Amino acid sequence: MQDTRPLLLKTDFPAVQRDALQTLQVNLGYLCNLSCTHCHVNAGPARTELMDRDTVDLVLDYLSMKGIGTLDLTGGSPEMNPHFRYLVEAATKMGVTVMDRCNPTILVEEGYEYLAEFLAQHHVIVIASMPCHSEQNVDQQRGKGVYRDSILGLKRLNSLGYGKRDSDLKLNLVYNPDTPALPPPQEELAKDYKRILWADHEIEFNELFALANMPISRFGARLLAKGDYVEYMNLLRGSFSQANLETVMCRSLISVDYQGYVYDCDFNQMLMIPLVATDKPRTHLSELLRVDLTGMEVAIGEHCYGCTAGQGSSCGGALN
Ligand code: SF4
Ligand code: SF4
Repeated sequence: MQDTRPLLLKTDFPAVQRDALQTLQVNLGYLCNLSCTHCHVNAGPARTELMDRDTVDLVLDYLSMKGIGTLDLTGGSPEMNPHFRYLVEAATKMGVTVMDRCNPTILVEEGYEYLAEFLAQHHVIVIASMPCHSEQNVDQQRGKGVYRDSILGLKRLNSLGYGKRDSDLKLNLVYNPDTPALPPPQEELAKDYKRILWADHEIEFNELFALANMPISRFGARLLAKGDYVEYMNLLRGSFSQANLETVMCRSLISVDYQGYVYDCDFNQMLMIPLVATDKPRTHLSELLRVDLTGMEVAIGEHCYGCTAGQGSSCGGALN
């Protein structure tokens, strides 16, 4: 697989400084029950990298010492980590809001029948990837039968109150294009999703996050293989919006990999671009327990234009 990393390191992207840390984003490992074409972490069923119990305990110590309000869990399928339940239970007991970036097929996977109820019991915010409302597009991007299982998973969440108007159980969906294009306007797309998913399946959800694809990992390799890399980067650079620079997610979060090493965001994690703040080739979370990152510089690269293009793109969807 071709790698875009060497092409992304030199950049004229503007400098970004950190604000107060609000969110700890933790990648629990690369094991996933799917193997999507756009996956920026190259996750899949054959991956074996998983966060161990000691590192999970370190995450809990960090949350507690820093008084961080939000724990954002990613993977792979974070629920496939054997310590997922332990981490969620302990974090919610501390009053931390937990977000689970989930592919909804895991909810109907054999062995995970308990999962939907568990998430509801702990008021976990579910952010479910649903790259399109069309069966054909989802199956093309994620594999045959994935749309059907995703619908079943979302229905299970709905049946517990997730995504319902009078419920405090939040279900947000994530869209990303499968082509080298920017996502359409988030608000309009959300209306389409709501209308179609309700009409076809009586599925409800709270918000839709429309994300741009990053020119890294599997998607980056595809851009290079198809000769689309330069054009896509020109699109991202040409759609730069200064306003989005103020709210890029690296200002308020750090990203921890499955071994406990820290990056400015999960894209930098995948590109193995270390923190500039500590001036070390890599920095472990255990070294940051007594460090305040506020005001420190973020490590940037050409891929950062993916966060600021058009309506902007972050873990919470569009930035404007
Ligand atoms: S479900 Fe998510 S983590 Fe798993 S392969 Fe697809 S994009 Fe990657
Ligand atoms: S790619 Fe990461 S470091 Fe760059 S702007 Fe986006 S969140 Fe910040």
